[in-house]
Amino acid sequence: MASPVWHPFTQHGLEEAIPQVVSAEGALLHLADGRTLIDGISSWWVTTHGHCEPRIAAAIARQAATLDQLIFAGYTHGPAEEVAQGLIDLAPRAPSQPTLAHVFYSDSGSTAVEVALKMALGYWHNRGEPDRHRILVLQRSYHGDTIGAMSVGERGVYNAAWSPLLFDVGTIPFPAPGSEQTCLDALEAACAQKPAAFIVEPLILGAGGMLVYPAHVLREMAAICRRHGVLFIADEVMTGWGRTGTLFACEQAGVVPDIMAVAKGITGGAIPLAATLATGPIFDAHRSTDRAKLFYHSSSYTANAIACAAAAANIAIWCEEDVLGRIAALTAGIASRLADLARHPAYANPRQLGAIAAIDLVAPDAGYLSDLAPRLRAFFLEKGLLLRPLGNTIYLMPPYCLDAGQLDAIFAALHAAGDRYG
Ligand code: PLP
Repeated sequence: MASPVWHPFTQHGLEEAIPQVVSAEGALLHLADGRTLIDGISSWWVTTHGHCEPRIAAAIARQAATLDQLIFAGYTHGPAEEVAQGLIDLAPRAPSQPTLAHVFYSDSGSTAVEVALKMALGYWHNRGEPDRHRILVLQRSYHGDTIGAMSVGERGVYNAAWSPLLFDVGTIPFPAPGSEQTCLDALEAACAQKPAAFIVEPLILGAGGMLVYPAHVLREMAAICRRHGVLFIADEVMTGWGRTGTLFACEQAGVVPDIMAVAKGITGGAIPLAATLATGPIFDAHRSTDRAKLFYHSSSYTANAIACAAAAANIAIWCEEDVLGRIAALTAGIASRLADLARHPAYANPRQLGAIAAIDLVAPDAGYLSDLAPRLRAFFLEKGLLLRPLGNTIYLMPPYCLDAGQLDAIFAALHAAGDRYG
């Protein structure tokens, strides 16, 4: 009998053979049929140190037996306090820039973005400028699949059905090589119109195609926003927790955003949690004796204690171990193999930022709606890999425990895919 489960981003009807995974450890997934896969994309960009990391698993078990869940409106618990302080201590900081000092919890990257947008509009509303509500976005961005997050993302087939629900935004061209100034000029002109905020994926657009842009452009974007009093929102949902080679990508540009969304690797990838960090002025705009100004946002599981305990364990790993050293070694291992792969005639546009790498397969049927990506996915599955290309863009975002042998196996499969589909 067909399964009643409705999977995300899955073409039911065409993709019926959905593998069942029974256990995982490190970079490996073990399937019900006895096969083992190397997880080349950290199970949708969340797993950082490795699957079932023992300290995180133990923290979850301890917390589940101590305090599982608590209403977070008007109550608090130790793990939430500890993680908030840890996030503030680890957040990007720079001289003469505001400090991220407040943490609002939610449970996914999309909700962290929704909260960021609501904070930005709440800030202007509570300061008596409710007309200041326009959001600026970067072309080809992806910020999640809830309504607000879709509104600030690129429009396409994946959200066309819901376009009546989406609000209008100002779109700034992507700073592709050679057109950085066009992007910055467009941002400057749009900021002069007094929008509420600019939201951006720092240094690399993820789901939009793993498109990299330079740190000096990000720095200039933040400076333009600052000059015009436009709030600068960094979506570090994908880039956070070391993916780009630093804990947060904004660090590479010396930028402190007014609002920052984090999720995915915040628990090492074990359990859902997200956070939206904000500076003092954003918080203060909602701190008032006037009840109309409080921040009207919550969900049942805000700051779930088990998830916070996992995040606390993750932060402890970051503080006690040389995680960045591991990422640097992985980055170097990827770089040498990517340079070799780039010589394959079927591949073009190799790019890498930290432990994220991408390359385009030059194939005749490479459009987003073609069946190339599902065919590649099936090919990689056969080769013992979990990879999920974006159209003809094949990318890697592995857990940091991936070893050289596993990296070799991934790149051997990429060469074979080039031979077969290029
Ligand atoms: N923002 C960015 C940059 C992302 O890459 C993603 C997910 O991939 C999201 C937001 C949404 O996160 P989630 O899938 O946890 O809702």
